[in-house]
Amino acid sequence: MNPVYAALGTTIFEEMSARARASGAVNLGQGFPDGPGPEPVLRAAAAALTERSNQYPPMLGLAELRQAVADHYRRHQDLDLAPEEVIVTSGATEALAAAILALVTPGDEVLLIQPLYDAYLPLVERAGGVPRLIRLEPPEWQVSEAMLEAAAGPRTRLLILNNPVNPLGTAMGEEELAVIARFCVAHDVIAVCDEVWEHVVFDGARHRPLLGFPGMRERTVKIGSAGKIFALTGWKVGWMCAAPALARGLSRAHQFLTFTTPPNLQWAVAEGLAHHGGWIEAASAGFQRSRDRLAKGLAGLGLVTTHSAATYFLSIDLAASGIAMDDRAFCEWMLEGAGVAGIPISAFYAEAPVAHLVRLCFAKEDATLDEALRRLAVALPRLEDRR
Ligand code: PMP
Ligand code: GLN
Repeated sequence: MNPVYAALGTTIFEEMSARARASGAVNLGQGFPDGPGPEPVLRAAAAALTERSNQYPPMLGLAELRQAVADHYRRHQDLDLAPEEVIVTSGATEALAAAILALVTPGDEVLLIQPLYDAYLPLVERAGGVPRLIRLEPPEWQVSEAMLEAAAGPRTRLLILNNPVNPLGTAMGEEELAVIARFCVAHDVIAVCDEVWEHVVFDGARHRPLLGFPGMRERTVKIGSAGKIFALTGWKVGWMCAAPALARGLSRAHQFLTFTTPPNLQWAVAEGLAHHGGWIEAASAGFQRSRDRLAKGLAGLGLVTTHSAATYFLSIDLAASGIAMDDRAFCEWMLEGAGVAGIPISAFYAEAPVAHLVRLCFAKEDATLDEALRRLAVALPRLEDRR
C-alpha cells in the first residue's frame, strides 16, 4: 500500500459520526445541518431524475450549471468568470484532489496553514509535495507576511488556503487577503482557495474571494461546494474556477478522478443558483440564530466559546472555561459521559497542535441544540473534580 495511506487513520468526522450513531449521542461533531434544505432545489433534483437524461453529462459539467456558477459569482462577488472557467466536480473534495494532483510535481513545496482541513495534507503528500506548515496563533488566527516569507522556499509552488476557516469559524479580512495575494504574486505561487464556506458568513459580512485581488486572476483556483451553499452536504456537487491555462490542467486530473457528477443534481444546483438565491441568505440568518442560541446556552453552563464569524462551527475554549483537560480527553468525556459528540481541534494539526478547543456544529434545529445543552447541564457537575 502507498505509505501515505498505510499510515493514515479514518477521518475524525467519520469516526465521531459513527460513534454518535452507535451510542445515540447528539451529534454536534461532523458539520452537517439538521434541516431538509431548499424544497424547490430538492424538487428540481427529483424532477430531473425522471424527466431528463441520466447518461453521462459533459466531462466539465452541464453547460447550465457552469453558466449558473459564473453568474452567481458575478452577482455576489463581482468576479468576471466565463462558464469555460468553471469545472464541475463531485464535491469540493474532488476539486481539491484534482487541483493538487494537477498542480503538484514531486518535490514541489506546498504551503499549508494550520489548523488545516484534514484532506489537504494527505493529498499533498500523495502527490509528492513537500508540505511547509504555517501555524496560526490565537486569538487573532491571522496570516502575516512574515509567516509566509518564513515558510517559503525555493521550490514553493502552491499555497492551499481555506477561507472562511474550518474549524475556527474566522473569515479573513481585506488586508490579510491583500498580504497573501502580494506574497503569491511576488513568489510566483498558485493559490488553491477552498471557499466552501463563502455563503455561511454572519453579522452582515460579505465574503471576499482571493481570486479578485490584484494579480490573482491567473494564479488562483477557487473551489466551491453546493453542499454548503444549499445545506445539502450529501450531494457532493462542487466546482473549481480558474483561468483557462490553469483550468486545462485541472480538467486533465478531473477526467480520470470522477469524470463527471450525477446530472440530476447538477440540474438542481443550476436551478437553485439561478432562481433560489434568496434561500441562501435566509439560511445564513437561521444559522446565525442557531450560533447565538448555542453560544448563549453554553455560556449559561459556564463554558467560554470562541466567536464564530462564519461556517457551522464555534468552539468551547477549555482553558478559558477552567477545564484542565485537553480537547481529545474532553471529547471522549463529552461523548461517553454526556452523550454529545464534538470534534477536537487538534485533529486539524499535523504538528504542535492547539489542544484546548473543541469544535461544535450549531447548524441544527433548536430542539437538537437544546437537547445537547440539557445533556451537558446534567453531566457537567460530574466533571467538577477535574477542574
Ligand atoms: N473543504 C472544507 C474546508 C470543508 O469544510 C469541507 C466539508 N465541510 C470540504 C472541503 C468538502 O466539501 P464537499 O463536501 O463539497 O466535498
Ligand atoms: N467538512 C465537514 C466538517 O468539517 C466534514 C466533511 C467530511 O466528513 N468529509 O465537519
